[in-house]
Order: sequence, then C-alpha cells, then structure tokens
Amino acid sequence: MYKPSDKRYDNMTYNRVGNSGLKLPAISLGLWNNFGEPDSFENQRAMLTRAFDLGITHFDLANNYGPPAGSAEENFGRILKKDFAGFRDELVISSKAGFHMWDGPYGDWGSKKYLVSSLDQSLKRMDLDYVDIFYHHRPDPDTPLEETMQALDLIVKQGKALYVGISNYDAEQTKQAVKILKEQKTPFIIHQASYSMLNRWVEESLLDVLKSNGAGAIAFVPLAQGLLTSKYLKGVPKDSRASKAHIPFLNEKDIKEDVINKVIELNELARLRDQSLAQMALAWVLRDETVSSALIGASKVSQIEENVKTLDNLHFSSDELAKINEILKD
Ligand code: NDP
Repeated sequence: MYKPSDKRYDNMTYNRVGNSGLKLPAISLGLWNNFGEPDSFENQRAMLTRAFDLGITHFDLANNYGPPAGSAEENFGRILKKDFAGFRDELVISSKAGFHMWDGPYGDWGSKKYLVSSLDQSLKRMDLDYVDIFYHHRPDPDTPLEETMQALDLIVKQGKALYVGISNYDAEQTKQAVKILKEQKTPFIIHQASYSMLNRWVEESLLDVLKSNGAGAIAFVPLAQGLLTSKYLKGVPKDSRASKAHIPFLNEKDIKEDVINKVIELNELARLRDQSLAQMALAWVLRDETVSSALIGASKVSQIEENVKTLDNLHFSSDELAKINEILKD
C-alpha cells in the first residue's frame, strides 16, 4: 500500500501558469510512452508514485496514448484508484483530443462532436469526474476555429475540465484562438508546445504571444526523446526508446552524426556545470518564465529522480548561454 512521502512538497518549485491561479511543478510527467499495454504495470506505478513523492503533481495524458490508444488512460485510472485514492485534489491531470482516435468522421481533428465525446471517453477510462486541463491537441485546417473553441468553452461550462489549452498551434493560430476564448470568457491559460535545445521554434514569436496574453507554456519533449541525455553517445542502448519496436517515434536512423556531435559538446558543458546533460537541457527550457513546466517522459524511476535534481541549478551565466547558442547554431 503506497503512502505518499510527507516531504513531497519540500524541494519542488511550483510556477504560476501565465496570470492564472494555477501553478504547475517545474517538472511534469507525461504518459505518452511507457504506460501502455506492453509496459510493466508495476514500473508504471513505481514511476508515478516516486514522481509524486518528489513533488511532481502534474501528469499529462491524451486520448491516444498507449499503445493501444486509450491504454495509458486506463492504466493511469487503475493506478489512481490503487495508489492515489484521497489525493485527487493534489493532482493536476490533463488530457487531449485532436489526433486520430476512432474510425469514421467523428474520431479525429477538431469538431465539437469529436472533442466532447472524446473527453467523455477519457473520463470513463480514468474514472474521473473532470480533468484539470483539456487541450485541443493540434489545429484542424477544416473545422472553423470558433467551433473548436466553443467545444472547449462547453467542456468547461459542463464542469468536465477546469482549464483549457491548445497544443501544436503556431503563433498566429494561437492569437486567433486566444481572441475567441477571451470573448467567451473561457480560461485559456496554457499552450503545450514542443521545445528543446534541438527545437527552438517557440522562441520566434509563440512565447511572446503567450506572454502578452497572460498565458503560459508547458514544454513537451524537452529532452528530444532522450537525445539530449548522454545515453546515445556510444550507440543505441538495448532498453532505450530508439531500440523499442513498439515505439515508432524515435528510431536508430534519427540519431544523426551532426546531432550527436552537438550533444557531445553540450554534455561537456553540462559537466562543467556539475549537471548531467538531461538536467542542463531541462534547466535551459525553464529559463524563460513563460515556460511554467518542462514536461518530461521517463522509462525508469531513476530518470525521474535525476531530472528533478535539475532544480538544484537553474541558473545560466551569459557566457554559458552564448556557448550553448554557439553549439546549437545551424
Ligand atoms: P522527453 O524529451 O523528456 O523524453 C523522454 C525519454 O528520454 C524517456 O522516455 C527516456 O527514454 C529518456 N530519458 C528521460 N530522462 C532521462 C535521463 N535522465 N537519462 C537518460 N534518458 C532519459 O519527452 P517525451 O518524448 O517522453 O515526451 C514527454 C511528454 O510530452 C509526453 O509524455 C507527453 O505528455 C508530451 N507530448 C506531447 C505532445 C503533443 O503533441 N502535445 C507530443 C509528444 C509528447 P528511454 O525510453 O530511452 O529510457
């Protein structure tokens, strides 16, 4: 029987999301991979309970996380019941819809029909009355943005989500979505955007758009699926994401020499800071206060422990930042 640590709030930092009342832990845990059917249920429990003991209060899901799609929410629901009974009010749970979930015209993209029914299914799988944040997972070129935002507004008014967010919208799409949500007085607070040392697109204008609208960001894939750690410096380890056939998102062929050359230099800089590369990469995405949280994934408890220790050193000198820019250029 799991009993959460009494010290769980001692060392985590909680950052306000934009101008909202919600705070997120600087490190959040996502269940995109390693929480599906092929993955050990006991390891899933161990990771979630250890994360909570370390102050990680935010767990991020989506309708299609698995494999198969939906199984991460089912497993999470089982673990909530087993280990987190009585702790719902200490957790921020998010889900999303926007990618393909079921066959036919109503199981994909951004219609009101899809979003409302998908969230109902997610709530059933997790056995929850509401999620804390519900995201539209990606922009839909065919559904009017007004309809998608109305769906988010409806979901909040129905009490099925407390806050809403968007994900994978570019800066211009975000401006338009925020405007509609403001008119509806729906609490849009957060954009879930890919952001890492190897993927800096949000710096062009998205972060400014969010800041000027009082919203925050949560950075997903901040370790570039593990590339921004030291694990791939000597080939592809057997238990890594790039080696797992059931995870199609990172393959051996994606690990290119020019990236590894950058990673070698970053790794050396991290060593001079007395940090692991993973820790430096996470501290780096958190350096802009618009980024409330770094949304990591993990396959092992030890990775979560290492990544939470990022908070021991979040500071970068201007020389270090310049050196990182130099390494990352072109
Ligand atoms: P990361 O970039 O954090 O990669 C996580 C992977 O890196 C782990 O599974 C592990 O891989 C490896 N890793 C983590 N920490 C360490 C460490 N300290 N040392 C060595 N290796 C480490 O993020 P993810 O790609 O997992 O994505 C995180 C979350 O972002 C998802 O769960 C999801 O919630 C969200 N997301 C959202 C998307 C969206 O469209 N909104 C899209 C994608 C993700 P290994 O298996 O090799 O051990």
